[in-house]
Amino acid sequence: MRASQLLRGDPTSAPGTNDDARAEDDAAPTTRHASFLACAQCGQRVTVPSARVEVGGAHLHTFTNPHGLRFHIGCFASVAGCVVEGEPTTYWTWFPGYAWQVENCGSCREHLGWRFESAADVFHGLVLDRLIEVDES
Ligand SMILES: [Zn+2]
Repeated sequence: MRASQLLRGDPTSAPGTNDDARAEDDAAPTTRHASFLACAQCGQRVTVPSARVEVGGAHLHTFTNPHGLRFHIGCFASVAGCVVEGEPTTYWTWFPGYAWQVENCGSCREHLGWRFESAADVFHGLVLDRLIEVDES
């Protein structure tokens, strides 16, 4: 019976959150399992669903680049494990006032999206079909 203390030794140490989410054991049916978004090519962890932001009133955007390629992107406040390429430019920018840089997977170098930066703001537009959602339970 007192083994239960040992078995529950699972430090859910999510940074920046307080602990009152685990006050009850089985009572809460809320499925709060963590998931994250990873590079579909190599599995590199890129961002988390909670980093989704709205830009220009929407999280999802569809754009066409100068080469006629269409991209379905989602906007995220932060990414990890990505590398930017080239200098920021406002050429053909999809978000007025924002300069962009190509953003690649830091592991396999797959093109995952763009980093957008204005004088006051930074966000990342990621190509959604180049990401997979991974359940971390
Ligand atoms: Zn990758």
